[in-house]
Amino acid sequence: MTTTARTEPCPQPAGVYVPVIDRSRCEGKADCVRVCPVAVFEVRRIDDADFAALSWLGKVKSVAHRRQTAYTPNAEACEACGECVNACPEKAIKLRKLGTR
Ligand code: SF4
Ligand code: SF4
Repeated sequence: MTTTARTEPCPQPAGVYVPVIDRSRCEGKADCVRVCPVAVFEVRRIDDADFAALSWLGKVKSVAHRRQTAYTPNAEACEACGECVNACPEKAIKLRKLGTR
């Protein structure tokens, strides 16, 4: 996967980068929701399939955080400002250039 933490000039036009969340790290405390200027994130209960994909330790951690986790329903609006990457206390967010893996 090609990721960046503000390695290119920013902001980028919307639709070039999207945030990707490491759900095994995310604790759902919503710093990303608070800092994103274009409302990319929401924090809600983890989907069953995402919960099932977690490791045993990840499941324990998720339950400890009331199964709350961040999703990106408005990812296409991301302008790659990097604020969410910097704000996330769990280092759970990376920016991925669209068209790369
Ligand atoms: S700031 Fe990080 S840990 Fe907190 S909800 Fe967002 S992605 Fe999860
Ligand atoms: S990089 Fe900026 S615009 Fe993109 S999701 Fe994070 S805070 Fe929002």
